[in-house]
Amino acid sequence: MRSLLMTPFRLFREDKPLRNTVILFVLTTLFYAMGATLRLVEELSLFWPLNAVMAGVFARHTFLNRLNNYVVCYVAMVLYDGLTTNWGTASFIINFSNIVFILTFALLVQRDKRRPKRATALANTLKMFNYCLLASVLCACFGAVGSSGIDSQTFWPLFADWFSEQFSTGVLVLPCMLALSWPGVTKPFHVQHLLPVVALAFSVGISVLIGGVGSLAFPLPALIWCAVRYSLLMTALLTLVTGAAEIMLMANSIINIAVGSHLQTPDMFSARLGIATMAICPIMVSVSVSSINALMRQVSLRADFDFLTQVYSRSGLYEALRKLEEARMPRNHLTVMLLDIDYFKSINDNYGHECGDKVLTSFARKVQQVVGEQGKVARMGGEEFAVLAMTQDATAAMALAENIRLAIEQHRFRWRSQTLSITVSIGLSNGMADSWQLTETFNSLLNEADKSLYRSKKGGRNRTSAQEPSSESESAADSLPGSVAN
Ligand code: GH3
Ligand code: MG
Ligand code: MG
Repeated sequence: MRSLLMTPFRLFREDKPLRNTVILFVLTTLFYAMGATLRLVEELSLFWPLNAVMAGVFARHTFLNRLNNYVVCYVAMVLYDGLTTNWGTASFIINFSNIVFILTFALLVQRDKRRPKRATALANTLKMFNYCLLASVLCACFGAVGSSGIDSQTFWPLFADWFSEQFSTGVLVLPCMLALSWPGVTKPFHVQHLLPVVALAFSVGISVLIGGVGSLAFPLPALIWCAVRYSLLMTALLTLVTGAAEIMLMANSIINIAVGSHLQTPDMFSARLGIATMAICPIMVSVSVSSINALMRQVSLRADFDFLTQVYSRSGLYEALRKLEEARMPRNHLTVMLLDIDYFKSINDNYGHECGDKVLTSFARKVQQVVGEQGKVARMGGEEFAVLAMTQDATAAMALAENIRLAIEQHRFRWRSQTLSITVSIGLSNGMADSWQLTETFNSLLNEADKSLYRSKKGGRNRTSAQEPSSESESAADSLPGSVAN
């Protein structure tokens, strides 16, 4: 369930066992009381959230999985029954069945957490539903035996009732429990964000109006819409509220599925399983959507940034330019530099490719440091980098290029016990650029910078060459020589 477990829920603390015991006792009593108040139709509750809530608590917190903590929950349940019912010894078996659900689910999730292999979020969610199914079957076996003492029915109707209740409640409550996290950064609110919830409320209203078994599925499209628009936690909460509301409305014949007769156990069994099946769909969609989004973010990050040096990739730089174009900034003085490390091949040849990689990474970091907020650095390929900067004028552009060149010349690169120094040749080009044609201007400046770089190399390397922006002729070339590489 790794994918569903996000930020740690700090209600429980590993270093505070006594506090954990008290909270477990209070939580069990609280949810027991809630379930007990919903024993409206028969002896057994319509909606029993306790088991799923506690299974979620134990599944999230590995350190709680100790026998004494399960005993605390069991004692709280038996005590509550002892004080509020006259079930006698049946209470021991009935509450043991609750513990069976909690323990089965928590142990299965804990076992998954210990496995080193990472499964996909979708596979984890599917597993969660399967674990819930198994926990419900085991719980229902004990529950049906235990409640036969307080109920006149035979084993199978009781089993059906227990199983359908445990499974539907588990499927509704557990995704909320596992996705629960403190609210993070909230996005600005727009009224249209409410549309999926409005559609959901509307579809539940239509279920009440039309009635019949089919009406239970009416909220499904709205829930899928919620899954696409909202977070996993929000989707899980809305699914829980809708499912629980349907069970309540159905049990009170407000949603009338057994038209003309009293609600029978087989109707309830079928309806609960129908609701559980419906509840699975939005959760699966939500998990799929968030997996796709995470993948998209990862892919675009990989495409936009160079894996080795962490500066922009060529495509990332063009994407950044496109965003700048959209920002509609005022006309600016744009500087484009092409940087090529001098005699880089000899670094690879003398110290190895691994050292070459390290030098490339440190080189990019150093250039980024000098350029700072003034511009962007991109790896155009191999040991060739580009710098895009907004500068005051041509003089400021040349000053920035020289700062970079000197910073590299003076920097000492460390490789194991050795110290290396390198130099860089820079081709510089600059000119005024309108925000709406930034990419076009960049391309033509890059072309010129490439020619200037060629002159820097030809002129002896470790130097900056620039071409006046307005001039097309080679004679306008200006070259600042630096010290020759050592
Ligand atoms: P010049 O001064 O003329 O630029 O000489 P140079 O040796 O730097 O130029 P050349 O283009 O001949 O060599 C570039 C070398 O950069 C060749 C290639 O092996 C190396 N190179 C390209 N990409 C990488 C990389 O990702 N890692 C490492 N370690 N080396 C790379
Ligand atoms: Mg090169
Ligand atoms: Mg080179």
